[in-house]
Amino acid sequence: MRNSSHLEKLVCSKCGKEFSPDEPQTICEKCNAPLLPIYDLESVKNALSKEDLKGRRADMWRYRELLPIKDERNIVSLGEGFTPVLKLEKLGEKLGIKNLYIKDDGLIPTGTFKARGLAMAVSKAKELGLKKLAMPTAGNAGAALAAYAAKAGIEAYVVMPEDAPLTCKLECYIFGARVYLVRGLISDAGRIVSEGKRKFGWFDVSTMKEPYRVEGKKTMGLEIAEQFNWEVPDVILYPTGGGTGIIGMWKAFNELKELGWIDEKMPRMISVQSEGCAPIVKAFKEKKKESEFWEDAKTIAAGIRVPKAFADFLILRVLYESGGGAVAVSDKEILEASKELAREGVFVCPEGAATLAGLKQVVEEGDIDKDEKILLYNTGSGIKYTEVYSKKPQIGVTAYYLH
Ligand SMILES: *Cc1c(COP(=O)(O)O)cnc(C)c1O
Ligand SMILES: [Zn+2]
Repeated sequence: MRNSSHLEKLVCSKCGKEFSPDEPQTICEKCNAPLLPIYDLESVKNALSKEDLKGRRADMWRYRELLPIKDERNIVSLGEGFTPVLKLEKLGEKLGIKNLYIKDDGLIPTGTFKARGLAMAVSKAKELGLKKLAMPTAGNAGAALAAYAAKAGIEAYVVMPEDAPLTCKLECYIFGARVYLVRGLISDAGRIVSEGKRKFGWFDVSTMKEPYRVEGKKTMGLEIAEQFNWEVPDVILYPTGGGTGIIGMWKAFNELKELGWIDEKMPRMISVQSEGCAPIVKAFKEKKKESEFWEDAKTIAAGIRVPKAFADFLILRVLYESGGGAVAVSDKEILEASKELAREGVFVCPEGAATLAGLKQVVEEGDIDKDEKILLYNTGSGIKYTEVYSKKPQIGVTAYYLH
């Protein structure tokens, strides 16, 4: 066994109670809040230097000391991570920003960054001997769970709305997951998973209710820091749904700061949501610590159609702590932005396009200095969204391409 993980314990994100990482954990029942993995960073300082990373595998497992898998033989990998950072020359010029970049997680197994979280969750499930993993999903997370469960030889149970994207449904089927389609929303799918937990012993790997998916997402922040040569961007715009990505990145930057690998200046984190579902934006504008349930959530960017994030208080904490912000954009602006990014050769998912639409707003409001280093995070490939990009015009949305 090769153990290079410096994972120490899990702690409740509200009350700080400690939980053992050596057995399966979900949430702190008392607080109904997520558990977060804590590492012995002092010992990481002795075990790892920036230089050690050179020549390591070009995927997210290059940071194994800062990841929770104890026995490296339990790593279930399809080569996820270390996705490219591209400079957006033309768009930068147009917006008057000298250093505008996009990190493209469209180039990752199953086509979205959900692969990072599920690679980690499935690896940890393998390590802990779990046999039946289940989740409610809007689509992308289910596809990623199905792929990694297939690789690991673990059973996957995916419950999703009947109108989830066709590609995601196909991926789940072809990877051999048990798929349940529900007439309803992801919240209805959640209820079915709860029942499956009780009746069939499913282990729930829902967003932030399983402690390790966020560690997979943390690698986005580790990669950003390394790819920018340990001088992190001034601003990161991130399409926010359940929030694992933004919470994970912020956790990465904090751990790197504690290791002394990046200096005190941290990125301002900006959550971008859709006008049709913007609970975090609303809560941020009202300076609240938690969000309210968003009724009638509606947007073409399905990955950020999350009416109430379980970890909303952690997302908001990141926005406040980082001096960042939150903006809502319309579906029409999302579609326009996806076209503009396509002119740079990147076919982004609607969620990724939302970050460019959000940037335009932030620039207009004068919240960005033109010399700053700005990073858009593209969370997935447009190829997964052929239905969205080819649909007939609907109310409020006029810019579909094939009509
Ligand atoms: C799930 C998803 C998001 C939102 O992810 P969180 O990190 O949970 O906020 C964004 N984009 C895409 C493509 C997604 O699938
Ligand atoms: Zn607690």
